[in-house]
Amino acid sequence: MQIEDKEFELYIPSAEIQKTISSVAERIKNDYQDKDVIFVGVLNGAFMFVSDLLKQIDFKCEVSFIKVASYEGTSSTGKVHELIGLVNDIKDKHVIILEDIVDTGLTLDKIYSMIDHDKPSSLEVASLLYKPNAFNGKHPPKYVGFEIPNDFIVGYGLDYMEYGRNTVDIYKLK
Ligand code: 5GP
Repeated sequence: MQIEDKEFELYIPSAEIQKTISSVAERIKNDYQDKDVIFVGVLNGAFMFVSDLLKQIDFKCEVSFIKVASYEGTSSTGKVHELIGLVNDIKDKHVIILEDIVDTGLTLDKIYSMIDHDKPSSLEVASLLYKPNAFNGKHPPKYVGFEIPNDFIVGYGLDYMEYGRNTVDIYKLK
């Protein structure tokens, strides 16, 4: 698949993504069944993960989104800007942040402290993809779909130069 100047190859097919999301959903259901839960998706990248995961969560819960920006091109800038903040009241609620990918973890650290500031009962992170070798943050995700090497990934919500989010499979840079 060609996006702008870069070529990408198939990496994780849709069926495998859906199977992994089912097992993440099962773990979350076991851990949070009787709790007052709010899922907080991180835009833009997590929109597909949030959608597919939440279809498998059958207990009463809230869903909301926040938006931050940190990436330019194919490498992390380290700078994180808040673009849309969380409007829900999360005091005494169990918050699960839903990320598409955790790379260095710097974005997550910023989001984590923004949310933690409002005193939730608990705060955990579920990420579809996780790059443990790049991670340098304070809050590793508790629920992980796929641990991957330090490749650059697109598809299933993730972009290159804002393109490529609208695929059912995940691709990596060739
Ligand atoms: P971090 O702060 O953990 O280094 O980066 C987190 C954000 O950078 C993610 O939410 C995602 O938007 C972006 N990112 C990190 N790795 C990749 C990647 O392999 N592909 C794409 N498309 N975005 C990535």
